[in-house]
Amino acid sequence: MFRKVLIANRGEIAMRVILACKELGVQTVVVYSEADRLSLPVRMADEAVCIGPAPNSESYLNIPAIISAAEVTNVDAIHPGYGFLAENANFAEICIACGIMFIGPPPKMIKLMGDKALAREVMQQRGLSVLPGTDRINGSKHFERLAEQIGYPVIIKAVAGGGGKGMRVVRDPGELSRSVELAQVEAGKAFVNPAVYVEKYLEHPRHIEFQVIVDRDGNAVHLGERECSIQRRHQKLLEEAPSVAVTAEQRAALGEKVALAVRDLGYESVGTLEFLMDPQGHFYFMEMNTRIQVEHPVTEAVTGIDLVKEQILVAAGESLSFRQQDIEWRGHCIECRINAECPDTFVPSPGTITAFIPPGGPGIRVDTAAFASLKISQYYDSMIAKLIAYGPDRTVAIQRMRRALDTMVVEGVKTTIPLHQKILRHSDFTEGRLSTSFLERINA
Ligand code: ADP
Repeated sequence: MFRKVLIANRGEIAMRVILACKELGVQTVVVYSEADRLSLPVRMADEAVCIGPAPNSESYLNIPAIISAAEVTNVDAIHPGYGFLAENANFAEICIACGIMFIGPPPKMIKLMGDKALAREVMQQRGLSVLPGTDRINGSKHFERLAEQIGYPVIIKAVAGGGGKGMRVVRDPGELSRSVELAQVEAGKAFVNPAVYVEKYLEHPRHIEFQVIVDRDGNAVHLGERECSIQRRHQKLLEEAPSVAVTAEQRAALGEKVALAVRDLGYESVGTLEFLMDPQGHFYFMEMNTRIQVEHPVTEAVTGIDLVKEQILVAAGESLSFRQQDIEWRGHCIECRINAECPDTFVPSPGTITAFIPPGGPGIRVDTAAFASLKISQYYDSMIAKLIAYGPDRTVAIQRMRRALDTMVVEGVKTTIPLHQKILRHSDFTEGRLSTSFLERINA
């Protein structure tokens, strides 16, 4: 087992990894930017190393500074969390070259899944359905014919995409070439790589994703699905497990397929395969995320498995302590992302938190690094807490989440709490009528 792990991240996920390491008896080092000097992870980790000024490029994306911190503190492994360097194959390669274990999949898997057009292709070869679509597009001529064959509406997506950026829906063929050009410019700015591809656009789908974990011996287990249909600007806001739309038969059948596919590819570590589900119940593979995800706690709650601990254990070469037949899904879990932003416009609301009282009581878990007096910096993601409500069934989970939202106090910044209160009381939500256009519909 590792003796000491460096956490190359901040905020709630840095705290989450610290907690897992404490349970495993592993020492922790966090790296931090000047803006995070007074943060909770800095206070809670065994050691902390400042790696630069607030801007990401000078701190949390500063590979030489992070590797130097790892060498100085003599760690065995680096946990990248999510975002920042978590899906940077180059960073994973550098860690390995320096004799430091990267807590994640092999770099070639990160590279493969980081190319969404290629990921579609390899997963299709392994029996997963994908929406009709194109390969990557260079230039702008021949894809007009391809889009015609796919049938409008279509969506243009960045090959290197993430975070809902660089996507454009096109309903009118006359707008295609202009939209492709704009998408390429956006993708170039956001991801360096300007390549895009075109896919059939599904109206009102559900976003359903499957969690997998694979050890070095090739034991691959799926932990069922999460539904993440409640989104704003193609970004998740509320997630739950299980999905009311997925039957036990569908879970078993698709779960088996995804576990086989990742084992066949030689994948290791935790990972998530994202699908869109159409109203007829067909699943289409969209992409695979090669990291621990923000919404992992809902799966932890219904399976009883600590995903971060397991992720660290398999990175250390341990075999999974469970088999597929050991996995049982019990109860229901919902997660609300509490962001420091305006609940109507989603514009970030940086500032100082003047009061912070997290809710408690039966079935409530709060993953956060926030506290009163903390300054929410404009430099980083606006998520300040994850509110997680578990119950024996969906009705109780909803009741507990409503109670938790109503008793949570965050002052000094605007938050998404009022929006979640509205969602949790909407009949479409309570009756499980969800789709990725849910928020537009209820706000219309
Ligand atoms: P990212 O990696 O940027 O998060 P994804 O490919 O995971 O992008 O897609 C994010 C969201 O965008 C999906 O959950 C869905 O709401 C929407 N989306 C993506 N592709 C399609 C599609 N073909 N049809 C309809 N919606 C889509």
